[in-house]
Amino acid sequence: MERLFPSSDLRLRFQPVLFRKTHTMRRFSCTNCKNEVHFDNTKCNDCQADLVYLAASDLMLTGSLIFVQTYNGVDGYLPCANRSLIGCNWLSEPSSISDLCQSCSHTIKIPDISDSEKKKLWSRLERAKRRLFYDLIKSGLILDNQVTKAEGTLRFELLSDVITENNETKKVMTGHDNGLITINIAEADDAVREKTRVAMGEPFRTLTGHFRHEIGHFYWDRLVDQPNTLDRFRSVFGDERADYSAALQIYYNNGPKLDWQSSYVSAYSTCHPWEDFAETWAHYFHMISGLETAHAYGLSPPPVTANITLNEEVDSPRDVDDFDRLLTQWIPVTIAMNAMNRSIGHNDYYPFALSPTISTKLRFIHDIIKNRQVS
Ligand SMILES: [Zn+2]
Ligand SMILES: [Zn+2]
Ligand SMILES: [Zn+2]
Repeated sequence: MERLFPSSDLRLRFQPVLFRKTHTMRRFSCTNCKNEVHFDNTKCNDCQADLVYLAASDLMLTGSLIFVQTYNGVDGYLPCANRSLIGCNWLSEPSSISDLCQSCSHTIKIPDISDSEKKKLWSRLERAKRRLFYDLIKSGLILDNQVTKAEGTLRFELLSDVITENNETKKVMTGHDNGLITINIAEADDAVREKTRVAMGEPFRTLTGHFRHEIGHFYWDRLVDQPNTLDRFRSVFGDERADYSAALQIYYNNGPKLDWQSSYVSAYSTCHPWEDFAETWAHYFHMISGLETAHAYGLSPPPVTANITLNEEVDSPRDVDDFDRLLTQWIPVTIAMNAMNRSIGHNDYYPFALSPTISTKLRFIHDIIKNRQVS
């Protein structure tokens, strides 16, 4: 499945950073100076301590990058080999067969990094991909700890267009095919991505969104393509047996269906049930991630509907089984954040309206993740 347009031996001594377990994307603080540090930081901005993130335990660790140390009695943690190259702050875990972290090790092809611009774009993509892996790990969706590179397993190729000897441009198509997710690194160029966003009439186009969309296709194969779930999928999203290529062609020729906003989270969702699922899957993770951050920072605006009086702290979303509760909390967060963005002249934080039909689709995704039987 793909879109028809190009998108797009250091050793450690470390201590766990203090954290509040209820805070999930959650907040981290530096053990050394106690100031707040962030998910992507390789150093504490205040005391300059080195930071590494241990994904399996969701811990930010500080220490000097000098000596290997054991953590919880286990030896062999190393900073990801991409740390010095692109600033990856994750740890390669002892069980890893490579010297890369769990996120980086799933990338099987990268662009020519002798070109500093391409290296910068690759770095941005890996930063967005670590957020993707954070979500997968926290949601219990990781399928394999190692990269076998076998057909059907999750792999990434982050590639640039190629200019051939005939001076023709061979475009890299962003998409998913049987576990292989390909992203055109040009998507990491803000100007290119913004130009594409405007050309496609999209309100929202981000690297994180690309990863969340494409991984949606991967998990459709794993979580939906089973007899009982497939029937329910078809009742919610429509029949995916519709000719995919023809459906895309119709979409690109004629544009989205009229009044698509009442049933689809984006215009692109209208082209085929597979794309609708991937777009809605991405939105589900936008919601979970947004609620995690709201929870971590104590942002809990009251519900927007007058007859709902619930006014309590936003829950950590991964502890919430009731989808309606998530939605009741998410909508006021998006409204508050949109207002915050408007107050300083930014585009809306979440420029979407979730109709009852879209909510049913999001609920389907919530249910299959909560009840997953990954094969
Ligand atoms: Zn510090
Ligand atoms: Zn890494
Ligand atoms: Zn897609």
